[in-house]
Amino acid sequence: MPAGRFAPSPTSDLHLGNLRTALLAWLFARDAGLGFLLRVEDLDQQRVSAAPHVARRQLADLSALGIDWDGEVVRQSERLEIYRDAAAGLDTYECFCTRREIAEASRAPHGSYRPYPGTCAHLTEAQRAERRATRVPAIRVRSGGASATITDLHAGTLTGAVDDFVLFRADGTPAYNLAVVVDDGLQGVTQVCRGADLLDSSPRQAWLADRLGFTVPRYVHVGLAVNTAGKRLAKRDGAVSLAALAELGADAGDVVAELCASAGLPRVRSAGEVLDRVRGTPWWQSEAIWRPWVVDPARPPR
Ligand code: GLU
Repeated sequence: MPAGRFAPSPTSDLHLGNLRTALLAWLFARDAGLGFLLRVEDLDQQRVSAAPHVARRQLADLSALGIDWDGEVVRQSERLEIYRDAAAGLDTYECFCTRREIAEASRAPHGSYRPYPGTCAHLTEAQRAERRATRVPAIRVRSGGASATITDLHAGTLTGAVDDFVLFRADGTPAYNLAVVVDDGLQGVTQVCRGADLLDSSPRQAWLADRLGFTVPRYVHVGLAVNTAGKRLAKRDGAVSLAALAELGADAGDVVAELCASAGLPRVRSAGEVLDRVRGTPWWQSEAIWRPWVVDPARPPR
C-alpha cells in the first residue's frame, strides 16, 4: 500500500517541532488516502541502552495526539543486513578523510553540508593499503558528479548536485542517507513529509533511490519549529515535550490544538478531529505550515 511515514530518531522525547511534523505527515498521508508507517531511526543509538525506552515513549506520545499507523514499527538497528545487501551493487570506494580534512578541502560555510571534494576517489591500491594501516575507511558512493531533481509540494522543483556521499561510516554503521532511502523504497513509501532542514538532502536521496531501482517519493518539507532566538527548537529550550508540558498542566489535547493553530488549521484536540475538519479542502495552502514556527516555552499551550 502506498504510504507516508514518520521516522524519529530515539535520542530524546519528541519536542513540539517533532510532534508538529508528525501530525502534518499523518495528515498529509491520511488525507491522500495513504497508509502511514512508523520507523525508528536508531542506527546512531543502536548501542545506547535507553534507546528502546525513548522510542516507546515517542510512540506513546504520537498515540496520545491521535496519530495511528499501519503494521509493525520498523527499527533500523534490526535491518543492518538489508542495507548491506541493498548497497552491494553500487559503485563505491573507501574514504580515509577525517571531518577536518574534508572541511579544509571544501569551501562550504561553517555548519552547512560540505560536499565531498573527491580526495579519495582515485587512490591506487597501494595508496589504499598504506592508509588502511592507520585508519579504518568509510565507504562512499561514486556519483560521477551527478545531479538530481525532486518535486516538493511547497518548494516545487529542486535540482541539487549529488556528491560522493557516505554510505557506511568507518565503524560499519549504514549512514542515514542509505538507510532512509532503502527503507522508504522497501516499505513502499510514496510520500515523504518531514522538516524543511532535510530539503537539501532530498536530491541526493532521490538519486540513490533511482540507482537502487526504487520509485522516488513525492516530498513535503514543512516549516521547522524554532526558539525565540530563531534557532532550531531543542530539548534544552525548556518545557517542549508532552511530559514536560503535562507538568505545567497542558494535556495532549491542548498540545494538538496548539500545533493545529501553529499551522493555520482548525484548533481541535486530536489528529482525527483535524482530519475530519480539513478533509477535501485545500488545507495545505495555509502559509503557516511552511514557515518556521516560533515556540516560546515561557508561554506553554493550555
Ligand atoms: N530520523 C530523522 C530525524 O529524526 C528523519 C529522517 C527523515 O524523515 O527522512 O531527523
